[in-house]
Amino acid sequence: MNALETHGLVRTFGGFLATDNVSLSVRPGARHAIIGPNGAGKTTLINLLTGFLTPTEGRILLDGEDVTRLPQNKRVKRGLVRTFQINQLFARLTALESVCLALAEREGVAARWWKPVAAHHKLIDEGAELLESLGLLDVAAIETRSLPYGKQRLLEIALALALKPRVLLLDEPAAGVPRQDSRELFDTIARLPSDVTILLIEHDMELVFRFTDRISVLVSGAILVDGTPEEVARDPKVREVYLGE
Ligand code: ADP
Repeated sequence: MNALETHGLVRTFGGFLATDNVSLSVRPGARHAIIGPNGAGKTTLINLLTGFLTPTEGRILLDGEDVTRLPQNKRVKRGLVRTFQINQLFARLTALESVCLALAEREGVAARWWKPVAAHHKLIDEGAELLESLGLLDVAAIETRSLPYGKQRLLEIALALALKPRVLLLDEPAAGVPRQDSRELFDTIARLPSDVTILLIEHDMELVFRFTDRISVLVSGAILVDGTPEEVARDPKVREVYLGE
């Protein structure tokens, strides 16, 4: 069974077809990228998957169960998690506090977390472990707003992992991160547990081809080609779109 599937997904804005009959299969444990030129419909597709947008037509299955009509929070509970964008709420919290808050949210104890801190050693240990797994333990006590951008992006992934995703959606994880740091960021992503399925949008083709085992090319809202990196790289239709051949 696939971790995530879409069947004939369509989304229109007015008369404009932003998602055109997209049927996508993401295998369990895959590192699957969606690539395509600007305006191809990548963000719209991710927004449909998370439930931020409702499809005009089509279905979304998570581990074989239809989640098309489920609200965003219920999809998160079922394990379909998108990276948080670090926002004002977290700006003045340290990296460890932020991750503990996300863990507490998952446990449903967020409202109580700030009071008996001593009672939450387990949570704090878990938070520290999570930070360590992403190479962030040395910045645990630093406010998120003071972290270098690359570390902030990693912390966003840590916050998403705190929610125990089965499928993790990464929307341009390396956007705005300097080249050298983006390689490190992807090396860290590559070490994430193999039972977490990853679907990502990324512009940097070198990273995409190095990191993923499956690529779907989206053009004008529709899937042009879907295959292994090798298959996609030698596909004449893709070469035409990307290299003008
Ligand atoms: P990508 O992420 O691949 O750059 P998007 O999903 O952001 O592409 O956009 C796909 C197309 O849908 C674009 O032409 C964009 O202008 C259009 N679009 C996206 N969101 C909306 C919206 N809320 N209203 C109208 N058009 C939209």
